[in-house]
Amino acid sequence: MVRVITSARPPQPSPDAGSDGCPDGSSDGSVARAAPDPRTVPDRRAALRSGVALAAGTLAAGCSTTGVVAHPVAVSRTALSPSPSANLSAKPAAAPAPRRFPRQPAEITHGPRDRPRVALTFHGQGDPAVAKALLGEAEKAGARVTVLAVGSWLDEHPDIARRILDGGHDLGNHTLRHLAINAMSEADAEAEIRGCADRLRRLTGSIGTWFRPSRTPTASALVAGVARRVGYPHVLSYDVDSLDYTSPGAPAVTRQVIGGVRDGSVVSLHFGYADTVAALPAVLEELGRRGLRAVTTTELLS
Ligand SMILES: [Zn+2]
Repeated sequence: MVRVITSARPPQPSPDAGSDGCPDGSSDGSVARAAPDPRTVPDRRAALRSGVALAAGTLAAGCSTTGVVAHPVAVSRTALSPSPSANLSAKPAAAPAPRRFPRQPAEITHGPRDRPRVALTFHGQGDPAVAKALLGEAEKAGARVTVLAVGSWLDEHPDIARRILDGGHDLGNHTLRHLAINAMSEADAEAEIRGCADRLRRLTGSIGTWFRPSRTPTASALVAGVARRVGYPHVLSYDVDSLDYTSPGAPAVTRQVIGGVRDGSVVSLHFGYADTVAALPAVLEELGRRGLRAVTTTELLS
């Protein structure tokens, strides 16, 4: 299970775009194309029941575009589960739960600066074909990543949760609809965080290992408190923003990441953008050359 990636090299600060990489605006076409797949009908139905109404309101919230390819739906054990609503018993072992890392602050922006490891963390939304391509590229290089999934995206593509976990990656909560959570009332913020947690729990048996706030790199005290109440001891921020959501071209994404990473870095990236897919092999190769291993956030901090 231990795959290795190698590499490392010196840093260089990177600008922090001040958003969580999801400016706003671009609509996520995936919401509109919930093509029924007979293999996923049970889960999809449940997901649709609980999520579609909300997801429909979030077209403008996504930060994934790219009209790349279609969306082959992988058959996962989860998807085949015939169980009814509270169907945890029919699922594989529950995914890892959040952990408290006593030496880490409530809001984590990076891991230890004295070990040659980095965490590539992805905003989880957008065309699942793009997501799977990114996961495949990472795995080919022996890398493990962290995916912060948007709840409405899980409603649309419930099989992706298991795909992420089966690849040995971390899976976490990126709110239900990816709205500007720091501007919300406590009740609304809680609904956003719990909404995603509920979906993760239903699909994987766990609320996921991490919480990352939406439309902001850092959580307000109120949001961090709500997240703690829901079960996430830490908020996962980052110290390197790839700016991939600005679609600057793959070479620019690579330069931005490689220019910013150093030991312990947490890099913000996004599913749903063609530039990210195109850049990832070069990013991984360069990390390898520098002796930096790309690991899950859990491993980065363990
Ligand atoms: Zn995001």
